[in-house]
Amino acid sequence: MIQTAQDMKTYKKQLQESLGNSFLRTSLDNFGSSYKASRAKAFENLDFEDMRNGIAESKDAALPRLEELLEQFTGNAEKAGVKVHFAKDAEEANTIISDIAKKGGVKNIVKAKSMTAEETFLNAHLEKDGFKVTETDLGEWIIQLRNEGPSHMVMPAIHLSRGEVAELFTTVTGKKHDPDDINGMVKTARRELRQAFLEADMGISGANFAIAESGTIGIVTNEGNGRLTTTLPRIHVALAGIDKLVPDIKTAFRILKVLPRNATGQAITSYVTWITGAVECGASPTGTKERHIVFLDNGRLTLAQDPVLCESLRCIRCGACANVCPIYRLVGGHKHGHVYIGAIGLILTCFYHGVENDRAIIRNCLNCQACKEVCPSGIDLPHLIKKVYRRVLDADGSKPVKNMLLSTMLRNRKLFHFFLRRAYLAQLPLSGGGPFIRHLPLLLGKEHGFRSLPAIAKTPFRDQWNTLQKQVSSPKYRIAFFGGCVLDFVYPEQGKAFLSLVQEQGVQVEFPMKQTCCGLPAMMSAEEETAKEVAIQNLEAMDAGKYDYIVTLCASCGSHLKENYPKMFNGEPELESKVREFASKVIDFSSFMVNVLEISAENLGSGKKKVAYHAPCHLCRGLKVTEEPRKLLTDAGLEYAPAEDEDACCGFGGSYSVDFPEISSEILKRKLDNVEKTGAEVLVTDCPGCVMQLRGGMDRRERCIEVRHIAEVL
Ligand code: SF4
Ligand code: SF4
Repeated sequence: MIQTAQDMKTYKKQLQESLGNSFLRTSLDNFGSSYKASRAKAFENLDFEDMRNGIAESKDAALPRLEELLEQFTGNAEKAGVKVHFAKDAEEANTIISDIAKKGGVKNIVKAKSMTAEETFLNAHLEKDGFKVTETDLGEWIIQLRNEGPSHMVMPAIHLSRGEVAELFTTVTGKKHDPDDINGMVKTARRELRQAFLEADMGISGANFAIAESGTIGIVTNEGNGRLTTTLPRIHVALAGIDKLVPDIKTAFRILKVLPRNATGQAITSYVTWITGAVECGASPTGTKERHIVFLDNGRLTLAQDPVLCESLRCIRCGACANVCPIYRLVGGHKHGHVYIGAIGLILTCFYHGVENDRAIIRNCLNCQACKEVCPSGIDLPHLIKKVYRRVLDADGSKPVKNMLLSTMLRNRKLFHFFLRRAYLAQLPLSGGGPFIRHLPLLLGKEHGFRSLPAIAKTPFRDQWNTLQKQVSSPKYRIAFFGGCVLDFVYPEQGKAFLSLVQEQGVQVEFPMKQTCCGLPAMMSAEEETAKEVAIQNLEAMDAGKYDYIVTLCASCGSHLKENYPKMFNGEPELESKVREFASKVIDFSSFMVNVLEISAENLGSGKKKVAYHAPCHLCRGLKVTEEPRKLLTDAGLEYAPAEDEDACCGFGGSYSVDFPEISSEILKRKLDNVEKTGAEVLVTDCPGCVMQLRGGMDRRERCIEVRHIAEVL
């Protein structure tokens, strides 16, 4: 039985259970690493971006035509002897299938893997109606025997060890199974399942494609069970979401070229089966197979009309968004989804299984963008997750206290900055005037002790501006410097380092005083109105037309200003062009230094230190800047020692690390372990938020590895 937490307290308990499961973590971690390598190999010499655009375009073109495609499919499939059904919801789909079985005098049913059948809880319905249902995909069979839901869309039993499977098989067969004898366990499964196939009157499958032009369905599997299920029994029913409709075989092939590569790193799966029409069948008294295709709506047609969230219907169920998600890799699918898991699961759960099942899990996203980077359908998953989070809050009619405080503070820049200045004084008993707060107030709880917190700076960057600003005669560039809250109020020295680098290069820097928080924390908390209000304040504070560039040292701010601002004002003609101009001028520090100033080695310090680098999520995935910071490090003569998984998240995620310290700390631990292995003396990164997390973690470890912003190191 799937038991997804419906409140944060229960969810937190469940997370702790998963974090305590060392097998789960090792197994998911090993899988995540090998997946990365095999996926990269599978896409070697292929243009993933081009393939991704192709899928996104064809899916987007099909979405407004789903009903028309259904009609075309039905006409063609029925001409070939197939009965096509349409179910508006899960209950109706299950009833249709049960009625087909009753009418056909069915007793035994075999099933191939189908996420849509998981979505409708079909097995439970059929069993209640007296049918014997046997899952025939090995992983699905295992979880059926355990009365569990899948923990991954492609590998449903990935959360189980061979010891657990051996124990299960021993209980089911009454014969002792050795966990080290995998072959023996496979033989048991084959023996049991073959018998089920021979006794089955009906086979139920899913469908990866439903091709309107021919009434054909396509099924992609790695085990022969899909073919046996659709061919051996006298009745075959395929259950498919209406979003699986594509106009033609060309579109299906376009998806097929990507699906196995992205799902498991295979160029093609073992079996790709195309079924058109009701064929001859020896087991049928009429000599012809009875074939049905049931299309499920369950909210998809309404979702298709949502201007933003319709993107989620592009999903081809490859499961990659889970494979790369640092949270999934720690806690597994049962704690990072409901029926559908991973990033897409957080989104779809709200529509297919109700707000109550999404209420807790939807908050568990770091916004690290790893899912978005690998999604072959080009779905902006982190963005949609925040949109859905907002829907959940609206549906519940209540918000966390944090949201109210955040909104009140951020909307009023003067109040916000007043509060930060006062915080310097308030923290003194805890910081003792030093750079860290090492003993946290008890109300934060001991799980927050995984990192030292930085002390608020005595004098924020903005209060030092008058003494720092410099008039440059005949400047090469005129830029606005966007500080961001962390640099401005915690690490003003990073801003000073930046000024000393660029002012020498003939850059006229301005620091518009009315700039405020970029608004990302509000966006992360689904406070859309606040995020927009804050964005407008920044647009007004920095008249983009006056500047060549708007430079920031904060990857998160940069990515938010550049990527999210245009999205927020999309369709608002009075602001759209202003926002576009603003966003086009935003540039991160490293890109500005390398691509605009074309800074040469002589203009950089000549450090001899060994440095490791942490690539901030919003720089390498958000802004897609990867080469420039590394070039700067090597140009500066530093000994750059690459760490394992440099581009993996550090676990910060702004307020995420406060909401989910148990997960943030584990992600940070892995990051710091990898850095320590390099033997580096300095860990360099280009986001003040990441500096805060990494430096706090290093301080807790009492290691002498310094953590610096790249501007300071240069
Ligand atoms: S943004 Fe990162 S944390 Fe959030 S779902 Fe995607 S991969 Fe997971
Ligand atoms: S959302 Fe994208 S990455 Fe995730 S399962 Fe769907 S297609 Fe794959």
